[in-house]
Amino acid sequence: MKRVLLKLSGEVLMGGQDYGIDPEFVAELAKEVKAAKDAGLEICLVIGGGNIFRGMAGAAKGMDRAQADYMGMLATVMNALAMQNALEQLGVPTRVQSAIEMDKVCEPVIRRRAERHLSKGRVVIFAAGVGAPYFTTDSGAALRAAEMRCDALLKGTSVDGVYDSDPKKNPAAKRYETVDYDTVLAGNLKVMDASAVALCRDNSIPIVVFSIRERGNLARVLSGQGVQTIVQEEG
Ligand code: UDP
Repeated sequence: MKRVLLKLSGEVLMGGQDYGIDPEFVAELAKEVKAAKDAGLEICLVIGGGNIFRGMAGAAKGMDRAQADYMGMLATVMNALAMQNALEQLGVPTRVQSAIEMDKVCEPVIRRRAERHLSKGRVVIFAAGVGAPYFTTDSGAALRAAEMRCDALLKGTSVDGVYDSDPKKNPAAKRYETVDYDTVLAGNLKVMDASAVALCRDNSIPIVVFSIRERGNLARVLSGQGVQTIVQEEG
């Protein structure tokens, strides 16, 4: 692998808190990203916003869904700035590109410019998902992985892979080592939303699902020794 897209759920930025951003934990995550970059990878980052605001949660409480989704997208910009800060404190050059233009705080998404940043050794953090409501940052991650021609989409989250049923409800749930896209879609397995999985399938981008909560796990996963599930075309 030469170029990867790392998607981090917003909730991992909370660390031990139950809301918001824990700067100490973001600093730990930044160390993992730096180690991957130092190992020679080009890194695109997409960070969710669920630690601050999710559109669906707002809609469930009576808000207009699209309005709530725009708030969710703004939350991802805050997370992107927090990660940019943590990476730059470690000496890693970064650029944030947002799908919602905000020229006082970051660049707009410009693919060719992002290419240039990567070739100069910068980490590019893509914020605001796809820039449209009714999507998630998983779809944003799949879209950026496709347009930046990443070799894999690494989904760092709170669980260590994809299970055949919900491991929180079923203690006998089994984790897949590998699973194909269609099994994930047909079984409605909770990996990413269906549009993100379908975009990865149509562009043959493997999805690697792993837990980012344990220190050193990203490096283990990249070296093929971690606990993970790879979603890819089988057979
Ligand atoms: N969102 C959106 N369009 C996008 C990306 C995100 O509307 O392209 C909104 C949506 O409301 C979502 C919120 O931003 O709930 C936060 O993103 P997400 O839920 O994907 O974050 P994560 O679960 O990864 O923390």
